[in-house]
Amino acid sequence: MRLKILLIAISLAAAVPASAQTSRFSPALLDRPDVKRALQSVDERATAIVDEWIHLVEIPAPSKKEQARAAYIRAEMQKLGLTDIRVDDMSNVSGVRKGSGGGPAVVFAAHMDTVFPEGTPIKVSREGDILRAPGVGDDTSNLMAVLEMFRALNRANIQTNGDLIFLASVQEELGLLGAKHWLETSGYKPDMFIAVDVGADDVWYGALRITQFKFFYTSPGAHTMESRGGPSPAKAVARGINALYNIPLPPIADGLGSFKLPVVNVGMLGGGTVFNAVPREAWFTVDLRSLDTPTQDRLTAAVTAAARNAANEEGVGFRVETQMGIDYTKAQPKQQRLDHPLVQTALAVANHFRKPGTPLIAPADVGSTDANIAVSMGIPAVAIGAVRERLPHRLEENADASSIVPGIKALISLAVALTTR
Ligand SMILES: [Zn+2]
Repeated sequence: MRLKILLIAISLAAAVPASAQTSRFSPALLDRPDVKRALQSVDERATAIVDEWIHLVEIPAPSKKEQARAAYIRAEMQKLGLTDIRVDDMSNVSGVRKGSGGGPAVVFAAHMDTVFPEGTPIKVSREGDILRAPGVGDDTSNLMAVLEMFRALNRANIQTNGDLIFLASVQEELGLLGAKHWLETSGYKPDMFIAVDVGADDVWYGALRITQFKFFYTSPGAHTMESRGGPSPAKAVARGINALYNIPLPPIADGLGSFKLPVVNVGMLGGGTVFNAVPREAWFTVDLRSLDTPTQDRLTAAVTAAARNAANEEGVGFRVETQMGIDYTKAQPKQQRLDHPLVQTALAVANHFRKPGTPLIAPADVGSTDANIAVSMGIPAVAIGAVRERLPHRLEENADASSIVPGIKALISLAVALTTR
C-alpha cells in the first residue's frame, strides 16, 4: 500500500510541468502597485523610447569600436544612480542596482557592438511600425530595452532583494570576448546571467558549440605562364571547401525553429594579389556549430582533416588558426539547465507578454550569445529578447517599433520575479 501511494505521488509529480514547479513568475505580480506603476510608465514613454532606440542605432559601434556607445551608456548609468559603474579595459560598461539583500544577483547583459564595419550607413528608416537599419535589432534593441528597464524600476521605486547588474558588453560578435573578459576579471560572481540578445519569441537555455577556423594554403607562387599543372593554393581552397561540404552531418536537430544544426559554413575566402600569378597564399574560414561536445569534437576532426587533405592532394603548404573554443566541461547538464527557475521564469514571462495570437514559446537548447560564457562556467543562464526583429547581421535588418514596449515590460517582470523573495 505504501508503495502504491508512493507510486501515485511520483506519477503526479511527473505530470506537473517543471515550469509550474520552478517558475517564480505569477501574473499577480503585475498587480503589485509599484510594478504596475513601472509598467505604466513604459506605456507613457513609448514614443520617447523608440526615438532613443533610433538614436542609439545611429551611434556607430563596430566590434572593438564601441567607445561612443559605451560613453552614452555609462552616462545613462550615472543618471540612473547605479553603483560601482565601471568601464573596463575592453570598454565593457557595468553598473549595479543594489538590492536590499537576501536575493540573487542577476546580470542583464546586452552587447553594444554590431557586425557592420565602420562607414556602413546606419541611418534608421521608418515605414509604419517597421524600423530598418543595420544593427537595429542585434543588439541595439535589447540594449535600449535593458536601459529602459532599469529606468522603470527607478521611476516606480521598486526595491528588489537581489542586486541587478547592467552589463553592456563589447566584442560579442567577435566570439563573446567582452562578456568572457568581464565574467573572468570583474570579480562579480553572479547567481544568474541573462543575455538580452535574441528575439522576443526566443528563450534559449543552451550554448552552441562554436569553433571557427581559418585555413591557409601556401606556395612559392609562379607567373601564370609558368603555372600550368603546378600546385596552387587557390585550387587547394576549392578542393578544401568542396570536401568540407561533403562531410556527412548528423540529422537536423528538432525544436530549433529556423535553425538547422549541426552546420558547417564557409563564411570568408580570399588570397592572391594579382591576376597573373599563382597566389602565394589563399585561405577560407569555417564556422562549425553543433549542440553537444562529442558531435563538435567529431566534426572538428573531420573538418580539419578535410582541409589538411586538400593541401596534401594539391601539394601546397598548410596552416590553421582556430578561434574560440569555449570549454564546456563545467556546464550543467541539459535537464538541470532547463529546469532552473531562471529559465522557467523567463519562459513564463515571455509567454505572458508574447504577441496575442502567436504560438506558445518553447525553450530551445541553443545559444550563441554572451550567455554561452556563463553556461560554460556553470552559472545559470538564459538568452531572451525584448523585440520582434528580423534578418540580423544583414543590411536589411529590421524590427517592429511597437514590440519594444511589451518587451521592456517583460524584462521588468522578469527582473522583479527573480530578485524578490
Ligand atoms: Zn547579438
